[in-house]
Amino acid sequence: MSNRILVTGGAGFLGSHLCERLLSEGHEVICLDNFGSGQRDNIKELEKLSTFTVIDRDVRLTGSLPSVDRIYHLASRASPADFTDFPVNIALANTQGTQRLLDHSRACDARMVFASTSEVYGDPEVHPQPETYTGNVNIRGIRGCYDESKRFGETLTVAYQRKFDLDTRTVRIFNTYGPRMRPNDGRVIPTFVTQAVRGDDLTIYGDGEQTRSFCYVEDLIEGLVSLMRVEGPEYDVYNIGKENEHTIKELAQEVLNLTDTESGIVHEPLPEDDPSQRRPDISRAKAELNWEPEISLREGLNKTIEQFKRNMNSV
Ligand code: UDP
Repeated sequence: MSNRILVTGGAGFLGSHLCERLLSEGHEVICLDNFGSGQRDNIKELEKLSTFTVIDRDVRLTGSLPSVDRIYHLASRASPADFTDFPVNIALANTQGTQRLLDHSRACDARMVFASTSEVYGDPEVHPQPETYTGNVNIRGIRGCYDESKRFGETLTVAYQRKFDLDTRTVRIFNTYGPRMRPNDGRVIPTFVTQAVRGDDLTIYGDGEQTRSFCYVEDLIEGLVSLMRVEGPEYDVYNIGKENEHTIKELAQEVLNLTDTESGIVHEPLPEDDPSQRRPDISRAKAELNWEPEISLREGLNKTIEQFKRNMNSV
């Protein structure tokens, strides 16, 4: 059955991949984006389709929205590099923006997926992180605008679900990478790949012993779609991410190996509140959504490096 689907943040990295996937399945897609971090270029092929519409507007702003059957709320800057310059936009996209969408979901009786984040776990003291872990977040820290607003976004989503019996689900997205990340996004994979392709030294923050688990975008999108699709899921929140954990040092070495570069490594200070470890427990998603990531870090990095090289050659 084809649906009418609203994707907020639809011109962003994850949003544009999601729109593409939904259109390929025959759905009608409405992309809401203010092009803050989203890029017109990401959706230029999609804009040729009659089943794709763009609304150029901030998710926080009122204004009529089309009636839809499904809503994915992805709109928010997500790079730690943006937390310093855009703290208010970020805090409000995930709170005020989420309220707007929950009201809209109520008005048109749409099923809604709220995109939360592994950042709700902060610098985790439980490892790996199951959905039941309540986290260790510095509410006043530099990451607070993102972490706390996603936490409140979850709370609000649950509140609407309880009060109004809305069909809502929340996905906690762990580190994801792939083509279409902005080279200057600030996150580690686009930064390392850009540096390696240019022959610049890779900037490891701190000693590089901090860990992350990196999920390739295609796997992530499959997880999002599976969560939206499932009827009456047993839980209303699911971790989606890759289980294999790597130190940032190992990641830097892998990028160097795969890019055949003269680049070396330099160390820079570790940003405030940078989590020392992160790895999802995805047993819930495996059991209930019948989902697990399939693409290895090497395969995903190769695809990402290829696209970054192509883009850099074309400018
Ligand atoms: N990082 C790094 N060099 C960079 C960018 C990031 O060493 O040029 C580190 C960062 O300190 C963190 C990890 O890589 O420990 C992942 O950072 P990212 O910003 O991608 O996402 P996070 O998981 O921190 O939200």
